[in-house]
Amino acid sequence: MSIEPARITHYIAGRDWDGDAERTGAVRNPATGALTGRVDLASAGLVGEAVTTATAAGRHWGTMSLARRAQVLFAFRELLSARRHEIAALITAEHGKVFDDALGEVTRGLEVAEFACGIPQLLKGGFSENVSTRVDVYSIRQPVGVVAVISPFNFPVMVPLWFVPVALACGNTVILKPSEKDPSATLAMARLWSEAGLPDGALNVVHGDKEAVDTLLTHPDVKAVSFVGSTPVARYVYGTATAHGKRVQALGGAKNHLLVLPDADLDLAADAAVNAGFGSAGERCMAISALVAVDPVADELIEKINERIGKLRTGDGTRGCDMGPLVTREHRDRVAGYVAAGVAEGATLVVDGREGDFDGDPDGFWLGPTLFDHVTPEMSVYRDEIFGPVLCVTRVKSYEDGISLINANPYGNGTAIFTNDGGAARRFQHEVEVGMVGINVPIPVPVAYYSFGGWKNSLFGDTHAHGTEGVHFFTRGKVVTSRWLDPRHGGLNLGFPRND
Ligand code: NAD
Repeated sequence: MSIEPARITHYIAGRDWDGDAERTGAVRNPATGALTGRVDLASAGLVGEAVTTATAAGRHWGTMSLARRAQVLFAFRELLSARRHEIAALITAEHGKVFDDALGEVTRGLEVAEFACGIPQLLKGGFSENVSTRVDVYSIRQPVGVVAVISPFNFPVMVPLWFVPVALACGNTVILKPSEKDPSATLAMARLWSEAGLPDGALNVVHGDKEAVDTLLTHPDVKAVSFVGSTPVARYVYGTATAHGKRVQALGGAKNHLLVLPDADLDLAADAAVNAGFGSAGERCMAISALVAVDPVADELIEKINERIGKLRTGDGTRGCDMGPLVTREHRDRVAGYVAAGVAEGATLVVDGREGDFDGDPDGFWLGPTLFDHVTPEMSVYRDEIFGPVLCVTRVKSYEDGISLINANPYGNGTAIFTNDGGAARRFQHEVEVGMVGINVPIPVPVAYYSFGGWKNSLFGDTHAHGTEGVHFFTRGKVVTSRWLDPRHGGLNLGFPRND
């Protein structure tokens, strides 16, 4: 018996959109291959209507007291915490990641909402009394206006939450454009804001593809764009939106290296490589895809990793497996194509993820963990972001060779070093040209009160997500110089103001 796919539509001005979409996209359960939904894809005209709605809502929300705004954030935090299982289940059903991992994603997103609850403290300005005689100077930060948040498929809840709570807390209104591949969890999260008391129109969700994105990037009333996705699209978004006068933070793709020194605890390093390489089927921007083994650790490390891969269960994310399917059939086939390319280019295939038993429907988008050894920098499995469960080992002779390899890579999102030598770790954190660094920690995603962002081709723009950088991105600074009239004022003086 086939089940009618659900309609997934836009959420504008606190209501589901009731128009007829000219175009829709397919949403599938990756563990079964079944078509479970059809998502409406917004036209340029509809995105324009959402921007008009958000602009109007900003006049109310942006001038509301900090105390009232913080109350909405606290209420949202409570609702999201209470509904996290429900939302995690939606993530698993459309993204495919295992339920526990989906729950972890919601929890990390929740941290940003908690951070944004402190907005009254975060927006405090500075005040200097008497910078000149009876002249005071103070700084304030004001909302930028309507902001667009455009998010990728791999974290349908956490990535939008890197931006939405901070943007709203700062008094902006938001158009959120989630990935069209797995939009339902994002939509469910967005509805919770209304329940929390956010005024209608302050957060709107429009689904769509390039047409919707292009409209947001060029619309004169959209003032800031937070984008997360692949590097080619991030570069395009940054170029287009800045050319239209917007402030932009465009987070792109990654190739994250884990450097293992000879003095490392190899069991810890092997656990870390497997967890960070194959968690969420390698579909994390902070996944480790390149393992750099400094002589002579490679043979022993690979043996330990191989043993651990043998214990992993790949299958339906609702069945307690370790690793789920890939997000779409096309993506699964693309990643499998890289496995074939690695073999053709001369890498040693230690574990072939194309073979194996999968605990799930035969029509799911399955690919098991793959391990390559003797990978060299010119091979496509090293060069490209594969975004799947493929771990490549490159052998180097020394720490210097390892860091040169990492720094020569065009991406700079995350990296990690495994060692018991504090001096070596300190040298690495100083020398490595990457935005987020782990020391014996494989996935160094910063907590919400620090900022998340990579270097080089992993981020276009100069502001990272959340933390104080997020607050700065979503506000404009203003400095006021004030003097209240004094009966003894000095009269006319055409000279440049001097502070004496
Ligand atoms: P994607 O670039 O295909 O899509 C991201 C968003 O852009 C989606 O909302 C999509 O609808 C839109 N989009 C896609 N093509 C477009 C185009 N031509 N013009 C305008 N908009 C377009 O990325 P994805 O496959 O959804 O996500 C995976 C990618 O995201 C990986 O490269 C991953 O590394 C990256 N990512 C990066 C970070 C980070 O923090 N740096 C975090 C998560 C994901």
